[in-house]
Amino acid sequence: MIQQQGSQLLPLWRGADRWVRRFQYPCLTDPECRYAVAIDTEGKWGCSCPAWTHAPKRKACEHIRARMAK
Ligand SMILES: [Zn+2]
Repeated sequence: MIQQQGSQLLPLWRGADRWVRRFQYPCLTDPECRYAVAIDTEGKWGCSCPAWTHAPKRKACEHIRARMAK
């Protein structure tokens, strides 16, 4: 798998130096697409998928839960 750290992928990452660890997950629907899961400097999790970015309370999405389980 090609690992891309480019900020062009994800609005979440733009100017976001607080994300200290990043992981990528393939989207289910599009082989070219990647969601990014990350942990910020406060230990909070984030994800670039709609389930997380559109969630009013930032509830952990399936990608975050999958990553936390490791
Ligand atoms: Zn997600």
